[in-house]
Amino acid sequence: MARKRTAQKLKDPSGFDHIEILGAREHNLKNINLTFPRNQLVVITGISGSGKSSLAFDTIYAEGQRRYMESFSAYARSFIGNLERPDVDKINGLSPVISIEQKTTSRNPRSTVGTVTEIYDFMRLLYARTAEAFSYETGEKMVRQSEDQIIDTILEKFKGQNITILSPVVKGRKGHYRELFVQIRKGGFTKARIDGKIEELKPKMQVDRFKIHDIEIVIDRLAVDSKDRFRIAQSINVALKDGKGVLMVMEEKGIVYHYSKFLMDPKSGLSYDEPAPNTFSFNSPYGACPTCNGLGQIEEITEDSVVPDKSLSISRGGILPLGAYRDIWIFKKVEAILKRYKMSLTTPIRKIPDEVMKVLFYGDDVPVAVPSVKYPGTDWNTKFEGIINFLQKQRDEGTEATRRWVGDFTLVKTCPECKGMRLKKESLHFRIDKKNIAELAEMNIDALNHWVSDLESRLSEKQNVIATEILKELRKRIGFLLDVGLNYLHLNRPLKTLSGGEAQRIRLATQIGTQLVGVLYILDEPSIGLHARDNVKLIKALKDLRDLGNTVIVVEHDKEMMMESDYIIDIGPGAGRHGGKIVALGTPKEFLKTDSATAKFLSGKDRILFSAERRKGNGEKLILKESTGNNLKR
Ligand SMILES: [Zn+2]
Repeated sequence: MARKRTAQKLKDPSGFDHIEILGAREHNLKNINLTFPRNQLVVITGISGSGKSSLAFDTIYAEGQRRYMESFSAYARSFIGNLERPDVDKINGLSPVISIEQKTTSRNPRSTVGTVTEIYDFMRLLYARTAEAFSYETGEKMVRQSEDQIIDTILEKFKGQNITILSPVVKGRKGHYRELFVQIRKGGFTKARIDGKIEELKPKMQVDRFKIHDIEIVIDRLAVDSKDRFRIAQSINVALKDGKGVLMVMEEKGIVYHYSKFLMDPKSGLSYDEPAPNTFSFNSPYGACPTCNGLGQIEEITEDSVVPDKSLSISRGGILPLGAYRDIWIFKKVEAILKRYKMSLTTPIRKIPDEVMKVLFYGDDVPVAVPSVKYPGTDWNTKFEGIINFLQKQRDEGTEATRRWVGDFTLVKTCPECKGMRLKKESLHFRIDKKNIAELAEMNIDALNHWVSDLESRLSEKQNVIATEILKELRKRIGFLLDVGLNYLHLNRPLKTLSGGEAQRIRLATQIGTQLVGVLYILDEPSIGLHARDNVKLIKALKDLRDLGNTVIVVEHDKEMMMESDYIIDIGPGAGRHGGKIVALGTPKEFLKTDSATAKFLSGKDRILFSAERRKGNGEKLILKESTGNNLKR
């Protein structure tokens, strides 16, 4: 759980209040020495190729990583290997370094904005502890009652009526149940309700073993009168024991009511397992939709994706995976099948009847006679497994390369079972304030924030007792995302579809969330692609990270970022071998007094600073074809 935020800056345990770099020569760096303050927001700037990344990433970050690895045992290092020492004489005052780069951190489709920020984890906890369950069969609210509550309810509801108390022992299962009937008789009961009919239990009794049965023991038949509370309570106790926490009451007209110590639909008797956080995880078999395994989409090889153009004949490549006619085995088989229906490889596919195409797609049991080349005049008799069946097998069992090939004939579709919501049916029927957890995961962060902000007023007192602490954690993490200007994302958004800048800011938000102290963070141009308003938020987030007691180094061109920083280091003056020197450094105030180009730009004397960076095009075009990434529709 989150630690308490430190009220004042912690004393730095390293004893250094500066980071000192001596003799840095990585890439184009010209043996530079410099010192800058720790626990401050430091901007390293300069034109592209000046050496600012060589200093930030290839020297400071690389050395931090190397030292971290050195702290491992020799045994551990023999596995991971050593990192090369960057070309620098010495760095003093270095803390553990974390780099927050633009690179998307995960290609895994199971990593989402919700999982990586832990917001979804806290929502799962909230749903497991406070959500109300509803039946996916009848929509009724699921109830769980204590034994005493069940007794009171039955006394009240069936007052003055004759009822039968039943204990369900078989629900929708096949079998002859000979031993079960023997056992029931041994338990002292004489009747059972079998498939809805009450029957006397006779010796050697059994039911049709190939049919599905429902069997309940008839525990007691009585007239409900509160004077008989003791007898009723006893019968209910027995019924719940035999029914493993569940019982049924049948009233005079034969209508049946269900009661349970667990979550149960009182109308249909459908019951759910007690919810746990993994009930709501699409990465867990307890929560994931069984059809799509929690991915929300399925891949299908369809007839249309295999035959996209029906005007073509098979010999002209009408069946896409086969390509145009060649003298190979598969075409001989296809030809033999067509011949059976008096058609040929040159028939346009739209003129081939559907049932013939079905044989080509899915095969059949009729042996295919293919003329043998080796022994002219004889036929090979083989079965044809069908092209789609073949592709499916290759997709499931093939090598990486064949699977990629099959991917060309595969359509990605929203899962028909969960409609893309990734969770199993039961999990989607737990609701808080009329919403299931998947609906929240589809809301943007702004809307989610709104929903969470006054949730207490819509919860019961009992729910609130449990929800308060979880809501605190939720709001804090949602706040971090709003702080870095990501209010438009939703929790279900796969991480791999985020832009580099968005992924970087997500990581920034999670780092603020971890509340680490004494760390050196390095960020690569986090302001790229941000609107001015969000840039202000970003700078505030970086300052928050600093105020927790961390050093934050930002490689950046942005004017606002530089002016808001505590210290600026300008590397240059040119690119490549014309750069690699420290042009100027100091607090923004000191820095403005220098005559570096950057200082002139900051003070408004030069309007354009980094114009030299934009290159001219070479006249060629970049063409995108059939793009399907993110939500692009080809
Ligand atoms: Zn699904």
